[in-house]
Amino acid sequence: MENIHTLNWLVDLVRNAKSENTEEAKKDAVALVPTSLVESLLHDGASRESSKELKLLGTGIAASPGAAVGIICFSSDSVLDAIDKGEKVVLVCNETSPADEVGMKMAEGIVTIRGGMASHAAVVARGWGIPAVVGLSGLEISDGSMKIGESVLEEGSCISIDGNTGEVFSGEMELRESGKGISELEIILDWADEIRSGFIKIRANADTGEDADRALSFGAEGIGLCRTEHMFMGDRLPLIQRFILADDESEEEKESLNELMIAQRSDLAEVIAAIAPNPVTIRLLDAPLHEFLGSDTPDELLEHNPMLGTRGVRLAIIREQLYRMQTRALIGALVDVKEAGKKPNADIMIPLVSEVKELNLVRSWIEEEIASVEDGLRPSIGTMIETPRAGITAEEIASAADFFSFGTNDLTQLVFGFSRDDIESRVISKYVNEGILSVNPFETLDSQGVGHVIRHAIEKGRKSNPELEIGVCGEHGGDPESIKFFFGVGVNYVSCSPFRVPVARLAAAQAVLSSFN
Ligand code: PEP
Ligand code: MG
Repeated sequence: MENIHTLNWLVDLVRNAKSENTEEAKKDAVALVPTSLVESLLHDGASRESSKELKLLGTGIAASPGAAVGIICFSSDSVLDAIDKGEKVVLVCNETSPADEVGMKMAEGIVTIRGGMASHAAVVARGWGIPAVVGLSGLEISDGSMKIGESVLEEGSCISIDGNTGEVFSGEMELRESGKGISELEIILDWADEIRSGFIKIRANADTGEDADRALSFGAEGIGLCRTEHMFMGDRLPLIQRFILADDESEEEKESLNELMIAQRSDLAEVIAAIAPNPVTIRLLDAPLHEFLGSDTPDELLEHNPMLGTRGVRLAIIREQLYRMQTRALIGALVDVKEAGKKPNADIMIPLVSEVKELNLVRSWIEEEIASVEDGLRPSIGTMIETPRAGITAEEIASAADFFSFGTNDLTQLVFGFSRDDIESRVISKYVNEGILSVNPFETLDSQGVGHVIRHAIEKGRKSNPELEIGVCGEHGGDPESIKFFFGVGVNYVSCSPFRVPVARLAAAQAVLSSFN
């Protein structure tokens, strides 16, 4: 359906409901609006007519909605060069890592050969509202050109991508402008907020002040996930590399941590100030080491399965000073924000826990750091539930956690044993076509398997800690079908990329409405 028709339909729907002016009419209108319409109105779209005239190069995973046109650049550096010359660019590469983020941010669109819905390129692109197609597995890049099927395109040639369908075309497609700012859309979302108020909140995943402002403008009620590793990209990258490569408790480690703390304190203050007085959950460092070190990873740090390796709380336990430093930076940031006249509201979240003793240990370090500061600021300390063992032992884990947040990207990866970076384009698309899976579980939560762990963790977690606040911060937090599930199992909030917040607001209201019918 072309946007313009559904947009007219939306305008009529809202007008009729307004003229009836009853609560029932508003609820009926909210229930009727397809979440897909809201999603399509928020992004530039591909004109279907114009794309018919272009050559389809291939179809990958539709990882971040919207359509984009630009010249091909194969690296973050060449994106920056082309932007300097006033070009619009689509970054095409094998996969991305934090080191590419400077270029990614400037690109109109992103295409990767590897990866899936929860891989770095997809998560970052959705966070910034950049259209992306990932897992385009038939594509090869070598010597300044890319080959896909019979087509060969040089760096600098024009391509178009449709992040809603996963299609990549050669040539320039016509773009249909987004319907952002349409008053009827705002009215529907306000009515949706009234309906879900008191039942379920919507937060955003945001890592910078700019993201936080955007999240607020889309109607988020806080930040459910601030990934601190994203603060170590660009010119900060050498600082974190220096820390990783230093020996534990060495002078070199101390110096690198001091530098990191200064950078981290000001970055955190920016995010906390931007979202204040709304809450922000600061997730302490969680990145597989190869994302920071890339091809410079020394042999002794190379891992066969980095996503199952020295990540999250595990790195923190072998490098005790890391989370201590991050806690000091956070406390400093809270003080700075308070002194600037705002009401800071931040929590600390520990990633990748699978055993309560891991949490107890790092919690004791964090509490020591907090207690050493005489300012009365006491952030609460919670954990992500993103390993099956954490879900299974939630009763114990909840005894050491003020809140849970389900990291459904990793939880899906680990419950299925499906690598979130490797499996989607080849295996899952086949599984979906063959009917082995009804949907991609990285997109829509698998309510039977992953959902079983979540239901169990909520029940047991609240048994041992009735006050436990429960959120979701994996990509499923922005998926309408999954939101229905989360509401049904008693989640307090979902958190998703800022651009998905309006869809989540509508989906959450619809979940509330359908629970009463
Ligand atoms: C998750 O695993 O769902 C999550 C939010 O953490 P990350 O995507 O950063 O691993
Ligand atoms: Mg995770």
